[in-house]
Amino acid sequence: MNKAKILIIDDETPICEAIQRVLTPLDFQVAAALTGEEGLRKIRTNGYDLALIDIMLPGIGGIELISAIHEYDPEIVCIIITGYATVELAVLAIKGGAYNFLTKPFSVDDLLLTVNQGIERRRLSLEAKRVANAEAEAHRLSEEKNRLQELYKAKCEFIRLVTHELQAPIDAIQNYLQLIKEGYIPAGELNGTIDKCLVRAEEERALIADLLELGCLQVITPAQITLVSLSEVLQPVLLAFQEQASQKKIALSIDIPEKVPHVRGVPNQFKSMWLNLISNAIKYTPENGKVTVHLLLEGSNLVGEVSDTGIGIPIEDQPRLFTEFFRAKNAKKLEIRGTGLGLVIVKRVIESTGGSIAVQSKAGRGSTFRFVIPVAKEK
Ligand code: ADP
Repeated sequence: MNKAKILIIDDETPICEAIQRVLTPLDFQVAAALTGEEGLRKIRTNGYDLALIDIMLPGIGGIELISAIHEYDPEIVCIIITGYATVELAVLAIKGGAYNFLTKPFSVDDLLLTVNQGIERRRLSLEAKRVANAEAEAHRLSEEKNRLQELYKAKCEFIRLVTHELQAPIDAIQNYLQLIKEGYIPAGELNGTIDKCLVRAEEERALIADLLELGCLQVITPAQITLVSLSEVLQPVLLAFQEQASQKKIALSIDIPEKVPHVRGVPNQFKSMWLNLISNAIKYTPENGKVTVHLLLEGSNLVGEVSDTGIGIPIEDQPRLFTEFFRAKNAKKLEIRGTGLGLVIVKRVIESTGGSIAVQSKAGRGSTFRFVIPVAKEK
């Protein structure tokens, strides 16, 4: 066992020497300091278990010294050495954090008893602290375990959903092919049935593409993150949808200031964010409708809005809108194809910047998706 370290702080050298003579042959490592300042310095550099402190020190006094010592290490046991005339001061010292006091002249037995009690008190107090720390760590680990279990459960549930979603188009294609093979499809319907197979195959491809994109979002490296202009990444997306919009006679209008500050992230991900929001707006808006894209600076955020005059989202479906594979019932009823993953991708991209997204929509009247992304801080 390590020897307990004791520091005597007393300006009377004979007292220091006498105490050292008693304690050194026993299980203690003893040092002395003649002033409070010297004592404090020694405590800060060497660390001690217990300090025997003369209450009447020149310079920094005993009571002040106790607070300074406890500020450095609250577990150092302070024992006050006092004369009869200063017993009241010793009581004050106890109130100020001293563990006990010895009144001069004291016997060797008194000294040993008080010192041993002090050392035992420090041992118990450190042990209590160790147990409390161990308990806190056990609590932290148990919470971490619960968190990992929750994550594992969510992962299993996701895999179950993915398998289910991937299975459906394959099953449909297999059934159509079986019917063709067994001659149940009349020659005149053959082309139509093959088209159905192609549609389901396209659905499978779109699912795999979205799943891959979701997977990529989890493994972003810091090297991929750069300053991005949301208006620049929007341009090719708008071009790509121009044709589709005009085919549906949808008026696609843009309201974006010439220069917008940069945000921080992966350019392709922001492109994908615009792509999903605008493709949804066009997809879920019937002919002759309107789709509008806004982007503006509000304080230290860029605020983007994609609005449409489309089918809207029933109020009861809105809370689940950003969860994997969820599709609102009006979209399914109208047989508008989709994976139910686009908005999940959008939400993850935006939240990875510290931003947020919300929707305002009324069934039959249209929807507005509004996101907020913090502007990148200039370095
Ligand atoms: P999907 O590939 O099905 O469009 P998303 O994750 O992009 O997947 O969207 C999830 C669901 O949210 C859609 O299936 C649709 O029901 C609804 N939705 C998304 N955007 C719109 C919109 N602009 N108008 C109406 N419904 C929308």
